[in-house]
Amino acid sequence: DLVEKSNFTLPKYLRVNTLLTTTTKVMETLNKDGFTRVDCSVNEIVEKQFSSDPDIPNLLVFHFSTDFHDHGLYKLGHLIFQDKSSCMPAFVLNPSPNSHVIDACAAPGNKTSHLSAIMNNTGKLFAIDRSSERIEVMKKQLKKASVKNCEVINSDFLILKPTDEKFKQVEYILVDPSCTGSGIISRQLEHTEEKDSKCSKRLESLSKFQLKVLNHALSFPNVKRVVYSTCSIHEEENELIVKLAVEQNSNFDLKKVLPKWHNRGLISDSFNAEKCVRCDPNVDFTNGFFVALFEKKMHEKLNTK
Ligand code: SAM
Repeated sequence: DLVEKSNFTLPKYLRVNTLLTTTTKVMETLNKDGFTRVDCSVNEIVEKQFSSDPDIPNLLVFHFSTDFHDHGLYKLGHLIFQDKSSCMPAFVLNPSPNSHVIDACAAPGNKTSHLSAIMNNTGKLFAIDRSSERIEVMKKQLKKASVKNCEVINSDFLILKPTDEKFKQVEYILVDPSCTGSGIISRQLEHTEEKDSKCSKRLESLSKFQLKVLNHALSFPNVKRVVYSTCSIHEEENELIVKLAVEQNSNFDLKKVLPKWHNRGLISDSFNAEKCVRCDPNVDFTNGFFVALFEKKMHEKLNTK
């Protein structure tokens, strides 16, 4: 198992911030700096090479040892460090230009700036987070990325009223709530038995919270698409939450995420989560991750008009 090896490292993923530049321009700069574009499997990329990710637009993949912190492209906000798995939720939500969108658990705002880029800085993006410290980090990141269509709200998402006039036009919601983070490679390497025993209580309370947040998102009157994601590998935070949300929200369908992606949600006796996507460090060279997509049923969409 690759994750068991202490030297296991993921490739470096950098997302081109299309609010400030284009992938073509970034590639030109990289070429001038001695990088060569290659078309091979991510685990074959060596130093000073990069490839274009086949699944996520505007995502570049580098050798794990590549350090971009001093590079102009990073300093200017043209390139953003973002693991491939973490680029999936905004790409899957795919809000239309000029639409209204909520990022319910937004800080530090990686997915928020990705959403803004997909919306091309149009419409309205509400970035909500409960933590004032993380909100401050997010504000800096959004400024650096030149995000201009976003209102940052320091609040518990659960106390925001879905019927509030402010959110009347919200059609898309991204739910990326706090989780155990059990999919994050660096944390997997730190695992000890003592920690594991404390984990079950935490897992239980996180699952309850995650379902609440997802249900709350599904209750916004005009919402048509909701993406739920975690960087956890536990069924309790992923497939189980989706199963309960499907049972509790008959006005929504679960939709197939990234149809070409081979690594799917788990199938158990009580629920088939094949429509969802999982990422596994050992096969996908990303952090462990989970993504589900809910879409309001057609007749329900019409009723709200
Ligand atoms: N989406 C972020 C990104 O891609 O940069 C990462 C989000 S992180 C997994 C979860 C966030 O949820 C944390 O910043 C945490 O402060 C926030 N959070 C936890 N409970 C919340 C609540 N009830 N309402 C709003 N935000 C909450």
